[in-house]
Amino acid sequence: MNNRAIGCILASLLLAATASCNENGRGPAVDKSSNQLKLTVVYDNHSGAEGLKPAWGFACVVEGLEKTILFDTGGDAPTLLANMAKLGLRPQDVEVVVLSHAHGDHTGGLRGFLEANSRVMVYLLDSFPAGLRNDARRRGADVVDVSGPTQLCAGATVTGEILGEAGIPEQSLVLRGNAGAAVVTGCAHPGIVRIVERAKALTEVEVLLALGGFHLSGDSDDSIRGVVSRLRQLGVRYAAPCHCSGDRAIELFADAYGDRFVPCVVGTVLDVGRMINGTGIEEGRGK
Ligand SMILES: [Zn+2]
Ligand SMILES: [Zn+2]
Repeated sequence: MNNRAIGCILASLLLAATASCNENGRGPAVDKSSNQLKLTVVYDNHSGAEGLKPAWGFACVVEGLEKTILFDTGGDAPTLLANMAKLGLRPQDVEVVVLSHAHGDHTGGLRGFLEANSRVMVYLLDSFPAGLRNDARRRGADVVDVSGPTQLCAGATVTGEILGEAGIPEQSLVLRGNAGAAVVTGCAHPGIVRIVERAKALTEVEVLLALGGFHLSGDSDDSIRGVVSRLRQLGVRYAAPCHCSGDRAIELFADAYGDRFVPCVVGTVLDVGRMINGTGIEEGRGK
């Protein structure tokens, strides 16, 4: 069985588990006293199940910390909210919204999300266009302007602005566990390697999981392989490229990472706590 096939089976198992937990439309409460730290992909270019809509963009929900975090909002609110509902996630339970960068496929769902729940803190970069900030404030949200690394709650930090050659300011979410960290990216315009390096310096632990858009679409195989090997050198144990990573990059990551490649589509649910807390890391993938 090849990696792709294993990945598909894994994704199906995760989706099945999610569906069975959500018959009452909500799903089980995360036990905040445990190590359970769960990440659910709610917006992506690809979907893992019928009824979950794919669209160009990215968003995910992190549960199990002191605060429930929505990272990015996808390109439109109807898709975001419909996928969240299908996955048993209520907008009212989100307390923190992080916007990775100011592109529409990550911010487009914000306005509609705030109509469903404006009692949130929105963390955006102070270099973002003023319109985004003012709009969020007008809709009742508290806005926090971020420049450097900023803690959202225990175990969750944003990197603050990272600017690469592309000149597009972006921040990433870093989840810190006892054994290492997970990094969640929007588009990774500054470069996924640079982001992982920054997260590693910030947390002073290994980055065990990198998940999100890696922005490698159109890159040559050699260049993608270079990124893969650099991430491996940096200690990234699990790779979950999605959104703008590009199909070819996703294939090459799957080949290189084998059973530590994590398929990432709308509906993917990961027990990140097990991956970064050293409590049976392999189990974090659903094994
Ligand atoms: Zn994007
Ligand atoms: Zn972008």
